[in-house]
Amino acid sequence: MTATIIYGNQLAETLRVEMKEEIVNLKRKGIDPKLTVVLIGDHPASKSYVSGKQKAADYIGMDSELIQLPAETTEAELLSLIDQLNQDPAVDGILVQLPLPDHINEQLVIEAINPSKDVDGFHPINIGKMMTNQDTFLPCTPYGILTMLKLNDIDIAGKHAVVIGRSNIVGKPIGQLLLNENATVTYCHSKTANMKELVQLADIVIVAVGRARMIDGSYIKKGATVIDVGINRLDDGTLTGDVDFDSVKEQASYLTPVPKGVGPMTITMLLKNTIKAAINHAQK
Ligand code: NDP
Repeated sequence: MTATIIYGNQLAETLRVEMKEEIVNLKRKGIDPKLTVVLIGDHPASKSYVSGKQKAADYIGMDSELIQLPAETTEAELLSLIDQLNQDPAVDGILVQLPLPDHINEQLVIEAINPSKDVDGFHPINIGKMMTNQDTFLPCTPYGILTMLKLNDIDIAGKHAVVIGRSNIVGKPIGQLLLNENATVTYCHSKTANMKELVQLADIVIVAVGRARMIDGSYIKKGATVIDVGINRLDDGTLTGDVDFDSVKEQASYLTPVPKGVGPMTITMLLKNTIKAAINHAQK
């Protein structure tokens, strides 16, 4: 068996073309979705993520604004900016690029964003809604993964999903979303004793650890679906996932590559959430 490769960049392109049309239609109705991205400092990876988000917004004709502040910006200054953006009726989505400098309390900042503009889906109110399966902004990476599974008609209900990693932005929420879709979910993390045996039982494996090629074909049940969230830069500068692509592709029925897998879907779901926010705001 050789897995079908799920190219997230191709799915993302299809969704972005659809959203481009949606934006044109919304503008005709006087709804002009706007995303504001706040970047503190000049961390190279953060700068590159932010520029990717802006390019994607431009591509679909969405209004986006980048507010770039120096690394010395105080917590109070950032909170005051968020307050202004919360009150600005032109702004539909606010994204504060993480990580923040050490002197700023990240949780405080996340909780300062009005949940109706929290297009990252990190606010505890939106997380609570996700937990209780209510309509909300889903966190972008897990939302992108779920969309990839659904668009490929991969069965989730009744399947055993093993999620490796339990971060608040990827592992925990993707497990919850799969549970909402009636999967049976097992979480693995750095303290899991028998990880290989657990992963070998999985119909769907989500790997979000940040360790290059840690999961090889010997972990994977024949025919499983494997989603590789990891992004690791090797010494030679190339990017690779958490999955050993060549050996896993011989076992899996579906597999996502790195790059061109989950990453482009993450940005796409951010745009989708911003459109949703604009529609919600217009209905108020
Ligand atoms: P975190 O570092 O926050 O979490 C990593 C998780 O992996 C933790 O839960 C940790 O366990 C677990 N872990 C670490 N070592 C092991 C091990 N040996 N065995 C099992 N579990 C282990 O990372 P993120 O969730 O933020 O990101 C994970 C990866 O995904 C990174 O490579 C990141 O770059 C990438 N990423 C990609 C995105 C995309 O759009 N494609 C978006 C976000 C992230 P414990 O909790 O016990 O410490």
